[in-house]
Amino acid sequence: MTFTLNKAATAFAEAKRYIPGGVNSPVRSFRGVGGTPPFIARAKGSHIFDIDGNEYIDYVGSWGPMILGHAHPEVTAELRVALERGTSYGAPTLLETELARLITEAIPSMDLVRFVNSGTEATMSVLRVARAYTKRSKIVKFAGCYHGHHDSLLVKAGSGATTLGVPDSPGVPEGIAGNTITVDYNDVQGLSSLFEQQGEEIAAVIIEPVPGNMGLVLPKPEYLDKVRAITEQYGALLIFDEVMSGFRVAYGGAQEVYNITPDLTCLGKVIGGGLPVGAYGGRRDIMELIAPAGPVYQAGTLSGNPLAMTAGLATLQIVTQDADFYEKITAKTAALCAGIQAKAKEFGFAYQFHQAGSMFGLFFSEQPVYDYASAKLSNTAAFSIYFHAMLEQGIYFAPSQFEASFMSAAHTQEDINATIYACGNAFKKVAEY
Ligand code: PMP
Repeated sequence: MTFTLNKAATAFAEAKRYIPGGVNSPVRSFRGVGGTPPFIARAKGSHIFDIDGNEYIDYVGSWGPMILGHAHPEVTAELRVALERGTSYGAPTLLETELARLITEAIPSMDLVRFVNSGTEATMSVLRVARAYTKRSKIVKFAGCYHGHHDSLLVKAGSGATTLGVPDSPGVPEGIAGNTITVDYNDVQGLSSLFEQQGEEIAAVIIEPVPGNMGLVLPKPEYLDKVRAITEQYGALLIFDEVMSGFRVAYGGAQEVYNITPDLTCLGKVIGGGLPVGAYGGRRDIMELIAPAGPVYQAGTLSGNPLAMTAGLATLQIVTQDADFYEKITAKTAALCAGIQAKAKEFGFAYQFHQAGSMFGLFFSEQPVYDYASAKLSNTAAFSIYFHAMLEQGIYFAPSQFEASFMSAAHTQEDINATIYACGNAFKKVAEY
């Protein structure tokens, strides 16, 4: 069957009549790679199916949540039961306590956890409590790290902001952005100089410990330890944004892998099993400032929603049933990366490959990539050719050079073999261009 997106093209035009750019989140529009995005009809396991009848092996996994694959039978069964019990009450449930218990057990730095509805909400709320606790205003973030789309952190942000070339959005008041200071990721000297000058005014440093929003970038050895030491020295709080890396690079997130204890942590994605969720938490003395325990206000009509809690609980329970879950998914990801690398070598390309657990990514760059500036040296035109060549062969990667890819437990050896084979054809196309 020849690959076409004719129905998608019609659907996209229709969507644009009612929705800005036809999508509800910018990168979905394929602005970063050109062309028409497939419109998805359904998904099962490691595969997604579009309205044109195309089937893809999916390495986007809804941008990270679907660590078990799509429509996992046990998660779906639990959700069916939950659905019959009503979809939202706006009152406490046992589910919230149970998921909070699992999270605080998995991530010992989190004494208390508050559920919200998205990663954006988590990072927005965590800054408020950090400022209240320290009685300081300034926030430090890293160029190319993305923490959601609220005003304070939409400054030199990665993900869609980079793909679309708008890292500093119009509409963010200078007065707010002015309290956000940006430094380069992996640059200890830059961070310590900043703290030498303004350390007493800095409430918190927020960091993706393993950045996945400028493509996948890895921390240099000891880097995160130094960030921890500097923040501690100046009485600033360290916030790990583990919305992507939490329950993904390891059960206990990047803080388990790198053995760092942040003061506060943000979560999302996997802990909602594909339903809208976010969470923030950390040290008891800080989190007890949040209403109604304390004076820092933060609330939500749908926060702790029973469907989201059910999907998150089922996901974490399934993950923990297999003691080797993370070992296996990491090995599978390594096998895929090794296969892709071997194909790249056949064509003599110097790509940069990175892997962290079940996250992976490749940069079309001959230079090592360790921060935003080096990530941006990548050849996005080559990426587009590669991306479309893969899509046409039924492999669905994130439609941007500046996003990570995700393996799920549902991916099979056949999926991996098919992906590596397709990569050979895609690299050939890139070589010809
Ligand atoms: N933080 C990180 C590290 C993320 O990767 C994302 C989303 N990709 C967010 C925050 C924002 O989460 P959401 O899209 O759920 O608002």
